Amino acid sequence: MNEPRLIVPDWKEEDRLKAIDSYHILDTPKEEEFDGIVQMAARICRVPIALISFVTTGRQWFKSTVGTDLQETPLDCSICSHAILQKDLMVVPDTTMDDRTRNNPLVKGDPHLRFYAGALLETSDRLPLGTICVLDFAPRTLDEHQCDTMRFLARQVMAQLELRRTLSQLRRALEAKEQLNTLLGDRAAHLESLVQQRTEKLSETVRELESFAYTISHDMRAPLRAMIGFSEAVKEDYSPLLDAHGIDYLRRIASAGHRMDQLIQDVLAFSRLSNADTSFQAVDVDLLIREVIRSYPNLSADFVSIAVDTLPPVKGSSALLTQCFSNLLENGAKYSKKGIKGKIHVWAEVRGSRTKLFFEDQGIGIPEQNLQRIFEIYQRVGRDNEGSGIGLAVVRKTVEKMGGTVGVESEVGKGTRFWVDLETAG
Ligand code: ADP
Repeated sequence: MNEPRLIVPDWKEEDRLKAIDSYHILDTPKEEEFDGIVQMAARICRVPIALISFVTTGRQWFKSTVGTDLQETPLDCSICSHAILQKDLMVVPDTTMDDRTRNNPLVKGDPHLRFYAGALLETSDRLPLGTICVLDFAPRTLDEHQCDTMRFLARQVMAQLELRRTLSQLRRALEAKEQLNTLLGDRAAHLESLVQQRTEKLSETVRELESFAYTISHDMRAPLRAMIGFSEAVKEDYSPLLDAHGIDYLRRIASAGHRMDQLIQDVLAFSRLSNADTSFQAVDVDLLIREVIRSYPNLSADFVSIAVDTLPPVKGSSALLTQCFSNLLENGAKYSKKGIKGKIHVWAEVRGSRTKLFFEDQGIGIPEQNLQRIFEIYQRVGRDNEGSGIGLAVVRKTVEKMGGTVGVESEVGKGTRFWVDLETAG
């Protein structure tokens, strides 16, 4: 009689069961690859029955079988549950002579199994999942070649299992990637709609603010006009009653009032730009600039001498171009050298679809460190400057509205050259 060696497993049952689960093999349908392996085992060992068996909780489950239709058996019918405790191939030449098998119901009763040999299905970290085993109805044994083949086939089963597991991991990774892509797509769409909503809200707020600025500025002009008007009336009607100080105060009130009025007008002009018409057409710039010069009192020949070359038409809006040119020309006149009448030269360069208009003066110039900020609203340079700091912000906004760009070069004490780049008309 065969004396079984008592083997204490060096693995934990919990780890072994987890390992089986990780292959997702239990209760899967038959597969050719595994069927081929058990058929080969039966043929080489010349036995009627061969199985690939996984020993799991309460049962052993067969992935592939030859010579039996059984899918699984309870553990008390399992010889493989003994085989997985061995380090190597377990061969039981006569099951009725071995303590581990003699009381097995399949040995004692139908179908009276008498021979068993099982090779371990073992993971790389030596956890036994089950066996590939061969069985016979008569006692017998295996030769060395058959034993080696059983071990080899066990390794083949493991290789198939690893392959299946890697493939299913890959499939799961791909599915996760797909899900992630869908999720990202959804997120992107959500973000896009959020951005759109916020932009709309922001535009609405900007519109409200601009209309608020417009209303406030507009309403402020009426009392201001009254102040200026009354201070002038006092000066006219009551001058004889006032001394030189009194008259100077009145003059200052009126001048401060005028300055405030100019400031309000500038703010109004800037707010109006947001609602400006954006349907552009060819504008006769040559004519327009000459009209601006004629109609703006600050640009009269008494204050400034302006030379205008022949100018080509550009694509834009007459209203916006009037605001832009008047600001540039008025600045050229305003920032002339002290005591010297300003001189401005206006000319154009056409390069294909773009036209660059130049406004060059011989005034005080702008220090280099200030060139960047002068186009920002409320930015003024120089202490005695009484401007609003809005003019160049208007210039930039009008030009950008017409799809153009604006720039400046300057040298302190020599003069300043602004340029406006717009689309050539026609
Ligand atoms: P404002 O003239 O009301 O101060 P602007 O926005 O028109 O406001 O101009 C901003 C600043 O740029 C001015 O304060 C001035 O210092 C400077 N500047 C503008 N144009 C000229 C120019 N042609 N020559 C010198 N300095 C200029």
